[in-house]
Amino acid sequence: MTGGDGMPVVTYSRSTDGEKQLSKNFKVREFVCGDGSDSVLIDDDLIQILQNIRDHFGVPVIVNSAYRTHAHNARIKGSPTSQHLYGTAADISLQGVPPLIVCQYAEHILDYRGGVGIYSNFTHVDVRANRSRWDERSGIQVSVSGFPGYGGVKNARNDDDHAHAGQAPSGSKPERTQAESNEPAQIEPTPMEPTPAPKTPVVVYKPDGESTVTLEGFNLQGSVYVQVRALSETLGYTVDWDGKQVTVNKDF
Ligand SMILES: [Zn+2]
Repeated sequence: MTGGDGMPVVTYSRSTDGEKQLSKNFKVREFVCGDGSDSVLIDDDLIQILQNIRDHFGVPVIVNSAYRTHAHNARIKGSPTSQHLYGTAADISLQGVPPLIVCQYAEHILDYRGGVGIYSNFTHVDVRANRSRWDERSGIQVSVSGFPGYGGVKNARNDDDHAHAGQAPSGSKPERTQAESNEPAQIEPTPMEPTPAPKTPVVVYKPDGESTVTLEGFNLQGSVYVQVRALSETLGYTVDWDGKQVTVNKDF
C-alpha cells in the first residue's frame, strides 16, 4: 500500500510495535487510533514531515490525532475521505508555537502538495499527493489559498514586505542564520495573528485509560479556557455549534 505520494504506508500493531521508534522523536504509539484499535497505519513520508517540523522548531510535537479507523472517524464525524483514515495525516500542536506559525512552516516544506489545515489550537498536516489548504478556526471549514509568511532563511530577504510594527529598519537587521531561525523565540507572528492570550497546557485523560492529550488552554483573567470542540474531539464526542441560536449541541 502506498500513500498519495507513493511512499509506503506501513501497518503497525499497537501492542507489539507501540514502543517502536519511527524516527528520532516519534514512536508508533503516538499515531494509534483513539478507539484503542490494534492496527495503526502510518505513512513514512508523514513521519519525515513531522520530524522536519520537530527539528525546525526544536520543541516536542504533540500528536493529538493521527490514524483513525473508519468506525472511529464516523463517530467523531470526520470527513468520509479524511486522510486520517489512510495513515497520512496528523493533528499536531507544538508548545509555545501558534498554529499559524506551524502552518507557515508546513506550507514552506510541503509547497505544492499535501494538506495543511489551521484550527484554533492545532494544525492538521497530511501528505496527500495534491495540495489542499483550509482554515477551520471558526469551527467551519473555509478553503484558503495557503499560509504564506514563513520567516526562515529562504525568505529572509523578503521580510521587508511584511513591515512588522515596531521592527527595526530592515537595513540594520542582521541576516538570520539557520541556527537562530530554529529557536522559537526568533519566530515572529505575522500581523494576521491576533495577540494571543497566555497559553496554559491542559492535560486530558482519554477514556481508554492509557493515553493523555495535552490541549492548549488560554489563560484569560485567571481562568483557563479550552475550546469545547477541541475537548470533545479529543474525547471522541461530537459537538455541533449552532451559530443562530448561539448554543452548543452536545452528543456526550
Ligand atoms: Zn486532521
